Amino acid sequence: MNITIIGAGAMGSLFGSFLVRTGESVLLVDTWQEHVNAINTRGLGVEFNGKIKRVDIVAAHDIPADGKSDLVIIFVKSTQTEQVAPGAVKCLKSNGFVLTLQNGMGNADGIAKYVPLDRVIAGTTSHGATLLEPGLIRHAGVGPTVMGMWSEKSNAGLENIKELFLRAGIDTRIDDNIPVVIWKKLVINIGINAITALTGIRNGSILDAPPTGELVRSAVEEACKVALAHGVELPDNMADQVFKVAKATGSNRSSMGQDVDNRRQTEIDAINGAIVTLAEEKAISVPVNKTLTALIQTVQKNYNNKEN
Ligand code: NAD
Repeated sequence: MNITIIGAGAMGSLFGSFLVRTGESVLLVDTWQEHVNAINTRGLGVEFNGKIKRVDIVAAHDIPADGKSDLVIIFVKSTQTEQVAPGAVKCLKSNGFVLTLQNGMGNADGIAKYVPLDRVIAGTTSHGATLLEPGLIRHAGVGPTVMGMWSEKSNAGLENIKELFLRAGIDTRIDDNIPVVIWKKLVINIGINAITALTGIRNGSILDAPPTGELVRSAVEEACKVALAHGVELPDNMADQVFKVAKATGSNRSSMGQDVDNRRQTEIDAINGAIVTLAEEKAISVPVNKTLTALIQTVQKNYNNKEN
């Protein structure tokens, strides 16, 4: 099987390091040339529990337009999904699949603008990773991966990909209702990411002060209302689930927090911003998510303003 991973940052590299264990052909594609060069010269370094393993894997700067990939995994940030999706089509075999396990809303639909719907697989992963330097990632958290057809119909091709992931040591299950799976992960990110990013706190600290908890609960309840208006019923206790994840990942800085710390563009538009857009479609008021979105957008806009 030929596997191409587009976006070989923390997560793309991590999944590449898993999948290459199966003996299948894996190509990492990333526009960051220094990272590509480091992987090709020294191997990909994967730090786990303080130990670094070197993984022999091939990286490239450009997506091959050769129509030979059985599986393309998109692991760029959600802001770049539609930029890379046309390239994914060009490297994909006609019976191949494009998989997204990215965070946020809109990735699968963005891919489906270019890739036939019955070739799109979407899902979530609870693995966590951080890019430390060119050619070196940290595997920061282990958890299940869930995937399903975006078109709602499961098929034998999807089963083969699940089997491939299991052979690679990735704990994976298929779910026939992937929109709900994605919504649940979205709501976790809605509760944690922007609030930790704006306040500079670690995930666990959202539990420390009652006003922070109330803010999290309000953002999550707004999101659940919007989900319901779009036909997705989420469990009543989503806020409690957010608190549970915040506790379990207490010492982590959220990905949006890391983006803000490093003055990188965040995924706000696909997370709290997606709630604002989806709420407008149904004339629902979401003041907390609107405020969180506007504040992160303001922070991003002023990264290069030296007077701040
Ligand atoms: P990252 O920033 O570490 O990696 C993204 C990579 O994409 C970068 O290396 C960048 O150079 C590359 N890239 C950008 N534009 C490109 C292009 N046009 N072509 C090819 N490569 C390009 O991000 P990440 O943390 O790996 O996250 C990827 C996705 O996975 C996000 O949606 C994120 O929310 C999600 N996710 C992350 C984690 C985590 O723990 N890091 C966990 C679950 C889900």
